[in-house]
Amino acid sequence: MPESDKIITIDGPAGSGKGTVAKLVAQKIGYSYLDTGAMYRTIALAVSEKHINIENESEIESVLNETEIKTEYNNTNLNIFLNNNDVTDKIRTPEISKLSSDIARIKSVRKFLVKLQREIGLKGNIVVEGRDMGTYVFPNAKHKFYLDATAEERAKRRYKQLKEKNNEEVHTFEEVLNEIKSRDKQDMERKESPLHPALNAVIIDTTSLTPSEVVVKILKSTEAA
Ligand code: C5P
Repeated sequence: MPESDKIITIDGPAGSGKGTVAKLVAQKIGYSYLDTGAMYRTIALAVSEKHINIENESEIESVLNETEIKTEYNNTNLNIFLNNNDVTDKIRTPEISKLSSDIARIKSVRKFLVKLQREIGLKGNIVVEGRDMGTYVFPNAKHKFYLDATAEERAKRRYKQLKEKNNEEVHTFEEVLNEIKSRDKQDMERKESPLHPALNAVIIDTTSLTPSEVVVKILKSTEAA
């Protein structure tokens, strides 16, 4: 069986449910799991800690040269390491969300991460989630999904997550909604690998579905194919 038959790609905008669903699908079928958004967030964290001007290409290159990203998946959680420091929680702030979308437009950043994603993904038996998994990183994957939901519903989910994490900084629902809308726009309109469904992706509107209902749809679709 070609490795591409053993890769399930799940793409979609922020808050579409792809992270939760991808993890559940991986657990159900005993696959590994890769959150590629976490990788962009980790580069954003490195950039922010070094106070880099992201318009300066050589400064970005030097951050990439000094950056080692590792991921560790243990059947429930994915931990991510920046130069051997666990940054799993640190990358989940609204500021890093915004910066990750800013640096995700930069060609050298994408090239650096796509190489790493392909090295991990092409081992197979994996669910990969992000923005360009089905369109660019794994174009030959047999099973491709694109999750979507209204911006209001996605903001509601993000706002709840932030509250649950007791994020000390105060963010109102409107701030979260605006952040989601501007990130959607930037991710969909950028030149490098913009967010859109792959031609052969199954599109699922998750607005009024629970994660388990989405998982059932995905598993049915992969079994039928
Ligand atoms: O999925 P998550 O919200 O964690 O992703 C953070 C940002 O990383 C996105 O807004 C997007 O700009 C970028 N990203 C990307 N390509 C991917 C995954 C994430 O450009 N495959």
